[in-house]
Amino acid sequence: MAKVAHAASVLEWDTPLYQQARTQLEHALELAEVPDFVSARLRHPERALILMLPVRMDDGTYRSFPAYRVQHSSVLGPTKGGIRYDEAVDLGECAALAMWMTWKCALLRLPYGGAKGGVRCNARGLSTAELARITRRLTAELAPFIGPELDIPAPDMATNEQTMAWMMDTYSMQKGYAVPEIVTGKPVSIGGSLFRHEATGAGVVMVIARACERLGWVLAAQSCAVQGFGNVGGIAASELRDEGARVVAVSDISGGVYSPEGLDVPTLHAYVAEHGSLEGYTKDVERITNEELLELECDVLVLAAREDQVTAENAGKLRCRLVAEGANGPTSVEADRILAERGIPVLPDILTNAGGVTVSYFEWVQDLGRLFWDRDEIRRRLADQLSDAFDRVWSVAQERGVSLRDAALVAAIHEVAAALESRGIYP
Ligand code: GLU
Repeated sequence: MAKVAHAASVLEWDTPLYQQARTQLEHALELAEVPDFVSARLRHPERALILMLPVRMDDGTYRSFPAYRVQHSSVLGPTKGGIRYDEAVDLGECAALAMWMTWKCALLRLPYGGAKGGVRCNARGLSTAELARITRRLTAELAPFIGPELDIPAPDMATNEQTMAWMMDTYSMQKGYAVPEIVTGKPVSIGGSLFRHEATGAGVVMVIARACERLGWVLAAQSCAVQGFGNVGGIAASELRDEGARVVAVSDISGGVYSPEGLDVPTLHAYVAEHGSLEGYTKDVERITNEELLELECDVLVLAAREDQVTAENAGKLRCRLVAEGANGPTSVEADRILAERGIPVLPDILTNAGGVTVSYFEWVQDLGRLFWDRDEIRRRLADQLSDAFDRVWSVAQERGVSLRDAALVAAIHEVAAALESRGIYP
């Protein structure tokens, strides 16, 4: 039988998560009214890199790890986005996440396009030395494709300040001098920014606070359930508590804990610092599953674990009044529709978790300028930038009568489209 050529629409990154990003985009493009050449350019990533990383394990054997870096759009500036270590990492996931980074950066008016990368591995099952060798090999292989003016990695799922320090060191050793501006989310000791560690979680709560103002709610009177207790959910839970809200449930990969009167968040953090997860924590709480957490009765449900959590199956069972997306892509397209029908607003990921990349931008600017700002200044600038983006999204939603996700995407697409129309397609 003759070999059938792939249709242009069936490309290597066409996985369910990429379809989700594409479906959202197509819907927003109908509202955005941009020229066809702009839509065509934004439908797919500009560049994708597939690697196999050979790594020596602690027992002397060698393993190969698939790794990816996808750069979606460089129209507005260097591409920017995290590197994740997770068993679900594939080309389609990185492509979807890279596209969302383009919208996130554009919405926040950062001079960046979107990228995302990762290594397919189970980070929890690897030693620190193995993680260091994976990271250094990854950085060496990525070296021709990343750079302070080209593509700037950052932490994402299961990567952290230490990962970024290994990346910065590997890149710098190859250049022959220190290049702190090659990555963001580094330790402060090597050019990291104050408040970067807390920025994503704190930003989630700044956006929730702004939404509460617009909805006429008092944040301090709200009960909140937080799925995910890592860098995003853990910090968001603390910030919500600091704002006076009642955090009734949190969860991580080991499951969740629930107390209708409100959890003791600092004690939970201390427990996780000691034991590695919430597993085994039972004092004054009811143990629940991650699925049960999503269906708890509460005011604000924060999704800060991973993608694909609220779907057609459980969207009808949610009993919250507002959903805030701390993770990227936690709500499926069908779930979005069901929640809209039920009148439950969703604060979309590209706005709600944009605090991380915004302070990454501040970090890069500080590194390039070799001049560092204090914590209060960074927090204030972040709050200003998020409020400005929130207000733009809110008014598009009001004026056009569309969801906050559609409004955020339309606002973001307009930023990229304006740049693309000015620059044109080369040559
Ligand atoms: N990984 C984070 C995100 O998804 C941060 C990216 C960055 O700081 O560049 O937004």
